[in-house]
Amino acid sequence: MTSCEYANVIIDISHEKVDRLFQYRIPTALRDKIEIGDCVNVPFGKGNTARKAYVIEFSDEADWDPAKIKEIAGLSTDHASAEDISIKLAAWMRRQYGSTMIAALRTVLPSVKKQNKLVRKFVSLKMPLREATEYYYECAGKKNQRARERILKELLATPEERIPYELITEKLNVTAATLKSLQDKGVIRIDEEEYFRKPEAFNDSRYGAKTLSDEQQNIVDTVSDDFDKGKRDTYLIHGITGSGKTEVYIALIDEMIKRGRQAIVMIPEIALTYQTLMRFYRHFGDRVSVMNSSLSPGEKFDQMERARCGDIDIIIGPRSALFTPFPNLGIVIIDEEHESSYKSETMPKFHVRETAIELGKLVPGGAMVVLGSATPSLESYYRAKSGEYRLFELKRRLTGGTLPTVEIADLRLELRSGNRSIFSRRLQELMEDRLENGEQAMLFINRRGLAGFVSCRACGHVFKCPHCDVSLSEHRGGQLVCHYCGYQEAKPKLCPKCGSKYVSAFRAGTQQIEDEVKKFWPRARVLRMDADTTRTKGSYDKILSSFANKEADVLVGTQMIVKGHDFPDVTLVGILAADMSLYANDYRASERTFQLLTQAAGRAGRGKRSGNVVIQSYQPEHYSIQTAAAQDYDAFYEEEIGYRDLLRYPPVSHMMSVQIQSRDENEGMQFANRLRALMEQQKIPGAVFIGPAFGSIGKINDVYRLAIYVKLDEYEGLVRLKDMTEKYVRMLEDSGKLRNITLQFDFDPINGY
Ligand code: ADP
Ligand code: ZN
Ligand code: ZN
Repeated sequence: MTSCEYANVIIDISHEKVDRLFQYRIPTALRDKIEIGDCVNVPFGKGNTARKAYVIEFSDEADWDPAKIKEIAGLSTDHASAEDISIKLAAWMRRQYGSTMIAALRTVLPSVKKQNKLVRKFVSLKMPLREATEYYYECAGKKNQRARERILKELLATPEERIPYELITEKLNVTAATLKSLQDKGVIRIDEEEYFRKPEAFNDSRYGAKTLSDEQQNIVDTVSDDFDKGKRDTYLIHGITGSGKTEVYIALIDEMIKRGRQAIVMIPEIALTYQTLMRFYRHFGDRVSVMNSSLSPGEKFDQMERARCGDIDIIIGPRSALFTPFPNLGIVIIDEEHESSYKSETMPKFHVRETAIELGKLVPGGAMVVLGSATPSLESYYRAKSGEYRLFELKRRLTGGTLPTVEIADLRLELRSGNRSIFSRRLQELMEDRLENGEQAMLFINRRGLAGFVSCRACGHVFKCPHCDVSLSEHRGGQLVCHYCGYQEAKPKLCPKCGSKYVSAFRAGTQQIEDEVKKFWPRARVLRMDADTTRTKGSYDKILSSFANKEADVLVGTQMIVKGHDFPDVTLVGILAADMSLYANDYRASERTFQLLTQAAGRAGRGKRSGNVVIQSYQPEHYSIQTAAAQDYDAFYEEEIGYRDLLRYPPVSHMMSVQIQSRDENEGMQFANRLRALMEQQKIPGAVFIGPAFGSIGKINDVYRLAIYVKLDEYEGLVRLKDMTEKYVRMLEDSGKLRNITLQFDFDPINGY
């Protein structure tokens, strides 16, 4: 619905042209019906041919001579083409997450330029067999006809078959010119055939599905029955690693394929390992393909084409794979659904989970969404408990192997007893034991939130904001700053709790740990995996496979080493400074810590021998650490949801972060204050405003970053505030009053700002 006179539309959504907008007048009768994202019929070009177009934005002003602007003919009624769905989804994302329609369209229509089709050529016999045989004898033995002789001999040996063109030119050494003249003479035929680029060649040796356990079968039956009854729900599978989730996904996809539907399997980029892929390839062979950032543009384009034309049933990949244009999508599976990479960090800042659910509603016949995780996000578990999603639990590990023994080392006690190294005595003991016995160890440093949280190394006291329950970060000049409300205090010389002078920002990296390991155990072979050592393509896989091949005793790394790969010979996992991520300055710090610790601990003892895990911490009593050590998700959830409820954080309530970026600090702050006042004036009942305050990175490239947070129980209320804010900002922009400021929105933020 609009009061505007004009609509800007796109005619074609051939992907490169998304930016070309055309303006049309909206007939008065349509104004109370038309919405952004609608498909309309318009007269186009000189001959006014009828074309389909999509409404991208409304406008009050004519871009050119109003007398020449044509009128929209009407709303289009033939709906549900793949393009309609993409546009509808983009319109939904635009509103739900706040962004321009163009940015949303670019997201759902990954801008792959149209690529040349690849062509394969084949050579076969065209002449009747007898004539060809005669021709062969004509050539045989003649000095200047040797090439003809070779090729005819080959073709006559298998007269029914087509021989690949390259095989003839390369192996038989026949020139293109010779082939051409034979073709002109009518002796042979050269066929051309288009084919798709396929990212990886896998053999086609299909393997049957495993006989599922009762628990597994129950999930598959329930979901398929629901599907047959026309229900399109969201399901959450909560099951530890090795409990058989992937096997359930495969069985579910089988069921969907039987029903003529296709499947999208979402996997975090970092977990998209060769091992995972192989399981799908072995089961589905050629009907599955992969989409990820390492594909060439041509490969990406072809996978989209294959999906469109029915050449594949399943696509696996990270975030962008969600927008694969299957004609009959039946299911979206999101593995490791708690991963923060499922939230986009660029506009529109959408979440794959919610967007998949919306997509499921938009596709013809509807699609189901299945989430899986060993440590579900608070969001999903909360919704599962409230009945919005359906919850399944897989409690047993099917791989055998016992759960590891987890111990917590109190780093405060270590310091008190004179151990100032980064390894607790218990970890040193176990390291020695493993090195002696030729077993492998992983040392994991939790680098999240490392941006300088400040604590007392003697008593573990952490400096926190008195208003926000988040830790303060150290900034230049020794100021401690709260990133939520802007509170500041000078860093004290002595700990206010115990008087110790060991008050410092914790800084330790993988490099230091590697050095330290070498100092302690000079003969240990160490591999390091972090952002530095994985910069080049393929280096990630190389390090992992080298460790898997036992070319090293110790793998040191950041959270990267926690994902994916199985290392059956790892019997020790050391988590150094486990609480690092607890001090990250946002409300998800405990959740992230719990997830990381649980996953890291799960790396030990995957093989036949059982494993040990040592969690080193300055605050071992924290519930994230305690529950992770006990591998007790439910206990963690109960604590954490209580805290979220108390402070009205998502998922109990919703939060919108209004992010303001300005080259001028004062101007930015003034604008932010004005914006907050304006939003407050809307008098939305229950809305809580925080800030403006500087983001956790207060300035990037001389651009200041400010944020206002709004908490509100109803998401829709936040969307309305966003719409209002956008309108206000557009008005300021149009009057030239807003030059140095940009605005972005983030709903239920996950990634720090
Ligand atoms: P997850 O995805 O939860 O980590 P997987 O599906 O990878 O679990 O299963 C873990 C291991 O157990 C795999 O090696 C898999 O082949 C095996 N597995 C899973 N389900 C069964 C089953 N029903 N019978 C036998 N083995 C199974
Ligand atoms: Zn202290
Ligand atoms: Zn604060």
